[in-house]
Amino acid sequence: MQRIPHDEAELFEVGDEVTGRFRCASCDLLVVSPQENDGVLVLPTCPLCASEEWRRVG
Ligand SMILES: [Zn+2]
Repeated sequence: MQRIPHDEAELFEVGDEVTGRFRCASCDLLVVSPQENDGVLVLPTCPLCASEEWRRVG
């Protein structure tokens, strides 16, 4: 399994309130903050691999 080095991008964790697009640090699953509710997304545990780390896309 490929592991993305932690020092290449800013990492966010479960419970962080974020806006924008994020990918799971382990499996690359994409999550996008909603248009409603001021566009704030509270980062979840990854539903695919249970990782607790996310990195911003773009
Ligand atoms: Zn994942």
